Amino acid sequence: MPNYFRANVDAMASYIPGEQPPRGTQIIKLNSNENPYPPSPLALAALQNIDGEQLRRYPEPFGGEFRQAASQVLGVPSDWMIVGNGSDEILSIVIRACTEPGRKVVYPMPTYVLYRTLTEMQAADVVEIPYKEDYSLPLDELIAADGAVTFIASPNSPSGHIVAKADLRKLASHLSGVLVIDEAYVDFAQENAVDLVQEYANVILIRTLSKGYSLAGLRLGFGVANPQLLDGLLKVKDSYNVDAIASTVATAAIIDQAYKNACVAKIQASRNQLTTDLKNLGFHVWDSQTNFLLVQPPQNNAEYLYQQLKAQKILIRYFKQPGLDDKLRITVGTDEQNQTLVKALGYLLQELPTE
Ligand SMILES: *Cc1c(COP(=O)(O)O)cnc(C)c1O
Repeated sequence: MPNYFRANVDAMASYIPGEQPPRGTQIIKLNSNENPYPPSPLALAALQNIDGEQLRRYPEPFGGEFRQAASQVLGVPSDWMIVGNGSDEILSIVIRACTEPGRKVVYPMPTYVLYRTLTEMQAADVVEIPYKEDYSLPLDELIAADGAVTFIASPNSPSGHIVAKADLRKLASHLSGVLVIDEAYVDFAQENAVDLVQEYANVILIRTLSKGYSLAGLRLGFGVANPQLLDGLLKVKDSYNVDAIASTVATAAIIDQAYKNACVAKIQASRNQLTTDLKNLGFHVWDSQTNFLLVQPPQNNAEYLYQQLKAQKILIRYFKQPGLDDKLRITVGTDEQNQTLVKALGYLLQELPTE
């Protein structure tokens, strides 16, 4: 077969998302950091009320209705918002608008794998800088690399830690390019960096409805930055990148802060309980400001545990890459799901053939 692809696309590895079993599969799914609770009843009611007329017409090109609502919730003007088909699309828009071959995209490792995929698609230069052992930020190296785009996920995945705001300020003030602060998990954290957007012209904050608001299937994310920065980004987005259903449902969801906060409180409590239970089994558990835990099993058998749990229809995440292949990432589920997991792990650790 002839090779139809650009050299960089031909050479790149495909992004491998967490396994998404078909609907209806009986499985405890703790591998993609989805929220175990349903979306807000107000969001589901808004979905029911969508009519044919709304679908007949093109949607608002800039997600105006959602921007208004998010602007109220965040206390940021609505023209400081860009809305996308999931926050993944906003990340892609930043890469497309700001990078090209010869320009650098810089981020600390380990982090969200999509940053690499997007950079390779664009044939821009990937610069990966390892986190320190304790997941403190390699600040000097990140500043020295001075990317056209620098990505910081805070809270980070898969480590679950939050990056100190003083470090983010230092980065923003020293970088000549754009600093993307990816706050996909911020709803589960104790602090956020939204004030940095007003302080620094080169900062864009990325948020999503997928995790905190239980709407991963809807696909709605947004960015917050000053209008000058957004002008350039809006040029490269698809004309109608947010569909009418996503905009309407997400608007209802973000307005319902009380419901989101109640779900988050439950997940935080479950996170603490799961942490205690796993520590009791001998796991090392990293402090988490997210809805997942990075853990290291007491014996050196992360992949074995992942496989055995999978055979028992419990899915968690195993990353076969340096620095992570001895660890597991576990999404916090309901207390019932977490207890089933802990029980299964308890049995597996006892049964283990000695290595
Ligand atoms: C889940 C996740 C996203 C993607 O969120 P979507 O809005 O569903 O595209 C972005 N960044 C990080 C770090 C994530 O974990």
